Amino acid sequence: MHADICYFKNRAVVLKEEGSMCGVFGVFDVDSAAGLTVLGLHNIQHRAIDYSGIVSSDGEHVYRFCGMGIARRVFTEKELAHLHGRHALGHIRYPTVTDDCTRDNTQPIVGTVQGIPIAIAHNGNITNREELEKLLPNKKFSTSMDTELILRLLEAQNDGDFDTNLSTVLNLLRGSFSLGILLPDRLIAARDPQGNRPLSVAKMNGGYCISSETCAFPSVGAKYEGDIEPGTIVSLSSDGCIITRFADPALKQCQFERIYYAQPASTIFGGNVADFRVEVGKTLEKLFPVSDADIVTPVPDSANFIALGWGENGRSGKYFPVILRNHYVGRTFISPTHMVRDIRVAQKFIFAEDKIQGKSIVVIDDSIVRGTTLPKIVQKLKELGARAIHVRIGSPPVRYSCIYGIDTPSEDELIASRRSIDGMRKLLGADSLEFLPIEELKKLSPRPESFCCACFDGKYW
Ligand code: AMP
Repeated sequence: MHADICYFKNRAVVLKEEGSMCGVFGVFDVDSAAGLTVLGLHNIQHRAIDYSGIVSSDGEHVYRFCGMGIARRVFTEKELAHLHGRHALGHIRYPTVTDDCTRDNTQPIVGTVQGIPIAIAHNGNITNREELEKLLPNKKFSTSMDTELILRLLEAQNDGDFDTNLSTVLNLLRGSFSLGILLPDRLIAARDPQGNRPLSVAKMNGGYCISSETCAFPSVGAKYEGDIEPGTIVSLSSDGCIITRFADPALKQCQFERIYYAQPASTIFGGNVADFRVEVGKTLEKLFPVSDADIVTPVPDSANFIALGWGENGRSGKYFPVILRNHYVGRTFISPTHMVRDIRVAQKFIFAEDKIQGKSIVVIDDSIVRGTTLPKIVQKLKELGARAIHVRIGSPPVRYSCIYGIDTPSEDELIASRRSIDGMRKLLGADSLEFLPIEELKKLSPRPESFCCACFDGKYW
């Protein structure tokens, strides 16, 4: 087997990052592997929009192309023509930390382990990076991604077989990792013992498919088989699917994935995301009803199903969206500067003026983070003649920064870490404001101790 990595034109402008919000998608042994991977990435594009990359394999060589932007823009026929082979691994990324324009922080990252080319795509954030870097005193890092650390640790294992070495390296890592790893003749998926980020496997046309979220499977013709078990390595090859356990599970699944990040069409952590959000909405309504409400509207899109749940019994307003999403604007958070973010908020929503005037409106959002979005929405609804505005939030107050791969700002920028609920209500200009209490969130979680609530309760693991 040749130890060969074919790079071609890499036009990515680069940012420094440590953690990032990401998505992973890969296929093994299928026709049009790279093309299907673009489609897969496209269907989990809500997880990140800044960079897209694919590494493919023809069983001997691996081929890489990464670029800036969403997958279907980065990959045209021209790029796909170079991504040969029946296996492919893709990655989408949104960097969360400071910029470093001198480095290529795109994924999948490629290297050579014991003479064999390898590509790694990572969703999550490694929290013991500094400690692990000490194990590699002479290594030069060419990116600022924690993913490179995984590659360099693997490269440093000189003897033994690859699978044993991979288990050893994964056991060194702390924090969050859902990984796709492409070798010339197999695709590997692995998940941290906490199962903090989702990662699932499916069968397709005699081959296999892995994805951060199950919502990507139907459109590529893949049939969901199950989740990658936390603490296991799943090897997909012509020998079939081989599962190896590298650590006992110690679950800490991310609540924020269910509340905000994941697509409602997905099934993650054993449950459907839309079903969960509907239950959140029903619980909110039961706890904090609004007897004089005319309508309930979500702040689109992540609160859509929460508002649906709220409106189900019709007691606290009829479900009727009056804040519509302008689909020609990306997620507002994914903006580098405060100024641009504000502009994007203004661009993002369209208000159904005729339906707002004189109404008592329940506005549902999934979360309050910096507190930039909702005050503008409440203000606009008032300007348009709303009689009363009651805000309900489908999560507990976000008081702590996430260190496991969700982009939350530092604690002093989190509005809930600085203000009381009434202080936030005043800031919003709303008539009332209520959050889903953390105990209620736990009640909606099978085995509550198996979920990470660190952004709500500061209990890091
Ligand atoms: P903020 O305006 O800063 O309070 O942000 C809250 C809004 O951003 C909510 O409508 C969420 O849907 C959304 N949101 C929450 N967390 C994130 C995140 N990590 N990245 C992007 N958007 C987010």
